[in-house]
Amino acid sequence: MLAEPAAIALRSTHAVIDLDAIASNVRIVKESLTPGTSLVAVVKGNGYGHGATMVARSALDAGAAMLAVATVGEGEALRAHGITAPVLVLGPVNASEFAAALDAGLALSLCDAAAIDGFAAAARVAATHAEVHLKIDTGMHRYGCLVEDAPMLASRIATNPNLRLAGVFTHFAEADAADDLATRQQVEAYRRAVAAIEQAGVAIPLQHVANSAGTLRSRDFDFDAVRLGIAMYGLAPSGDVPLLPGMRPAMTLKSRLSRIHELAAGDRVSYGGTYVASSPERLGLIPCGYADGYPRALSNRGWIGARDSHLPIRGRVCMDQLMVGLGSEPSMQVGNEVTLLGDGTNAAPTADQLAAEVGTINYEIVTRLAARVPRVYVRSGAIVAVEDLLGLHEI
Ligand SMILES: *Cc1c(COP(=O)(O)O)cnc(C)c1O
Repeated sequence: MLAEPAAIALRSTHAVIDLDAIASNVRIVKESLTPGTSLVAVVKGNGYGHGATMVARSALDAGAAMLAVATVGEGEALRAHGITAPVLVLGPVNASEFAAALDAGLALSLCDAAAIDGFAAAARVAATHAEVHLKIDTGMHRYGCLVEDAPMLASRIATNPNLRLAGVFTHFAEADAADDLATRQQVEAYRRAVAAIEQAGVAIPLQHVANSAGTLRSRDFDFDAVRLGIAMYGLAPSGDVPLLPGMRPAMTLKSRLSRIHELAAGDRVSYGGTYVASSPERLGLIPCGYADGYPRALSNRGWIGARDSHLPIRGRVCMDQLMVGLGSEPSMQVGNEVTLLGDGTNAAPTADQLAAEVGTINYEIVTRLAARVPRVYVRSGAIVAVEDLLGLHEI
C-alpha cells in the first residue's frame, strides 16, 4: 500500500500509474531492437488513458527519441507541459490547425498535395520550416497516399523551401494476427514506395513502419524507428502477439467500499432491478461508474478484486456508482480498498479480461478511462504527481 501524502485530496476511485513499468517496458523493447533503431513512444488518447505527459516524460527518460500523438491538440498539450522532444501528429489534420501545429513545433503526417501546399503556405506566413512525414497506405486503406503517388509527394515536400521531409512511414493493419502474410505484403509495398522515392532523388531521413505488434514479432520491421503504443503500457497487442519477458501493465484502477448494506431475499438492485437477491446478501457500493469509463456492459457480469476474492457486480453499472456482492469477503468494511482493473494480482481483472467480457480490446478498456478519474503517478514506490480535472500537480 502506498502512503498517500495528507495534502492530496484524492477521490476513492483513482488510477495508479506505475511510471517504472512504463520506463522498464520501453527499455526492454529498446534493447530488443536492431542496434541503431530508435523508439517513438505513442501517447495519443491521453497516453492510452494513462496520462500523456507523465508517460511521455518517462518514455523519453527511458530512451524514446520521439513522441507520437493523433491530434494537434494532443501535441500542444505536451508542449504546454514543457515537453520539448520531437512530436509527430499521426492523424489527419484540418487546414485550420496548421498554424497551431507550427507554433507548437509539431511534425505532421501528410499524404496529399493540397495539405502539403497548405502546410507549406502556413509555414511561409510564419517564416518557419515545417517538418512533414509522408504517410503511405500500403494496405490498411485508412490514412495515407497510394504507393504510386509517393515519389511525387515526397519530391513536393522535399523541394519546398518551407518544408522538410523528416520521414516516410506506413502502418500495419494485421500485425497482431497469428500469421504475418498481410504484414509482409505491406512491407513489400512500403519498400517499393521507398525505392521509387529514392530513385526520384529524394533522401529519407527516417523510415518507420512497425507498431507494437510488428515490433514484438520480428526484427524485419525495425527500419530506422518503431512506433510503440500498447506494449509500452504493458498490454499485449493481441492473444497471438505476446509481450517480451518482464514487461508489465502500468495501470491499476482502485477504489474503496463507500457503503455496505444487507439485501433480503427478493430485493432488487440498481436501475431496472436486473439483479434479484436469492437469499440475504451483503452488498458493497463502489463510487465508480460509466462516467469514469467503466463499461456499463459489465452490469451483472464483471467482477472486482478485493483481498483474494472476485466480488461480482450486482445489477446495472450506473453513471457514477456500481454495486458488488460481498459474500466471499464477509469481513470487508467501508473504506477497504478494492481493485477494479490491474495486472491480475489482488484477484482483480486484467484489461484483457474486461475486454473479453464486453467484446472489445484492451486498448479501449484503458483508453476510455475518463478525465475525472485522478491519475496517481508512482515512481520508485512514491507518489510523484497527481493529475485531475484541474491539471497536473507534481509532488
Ligand atoms: C496508434 C498507432 C500506433 C501504435 O499502435 P500500437 O498497436 O498501440 O502499438 C502506431 N502507428 C500509428 C500510425 C498509430 O496510429
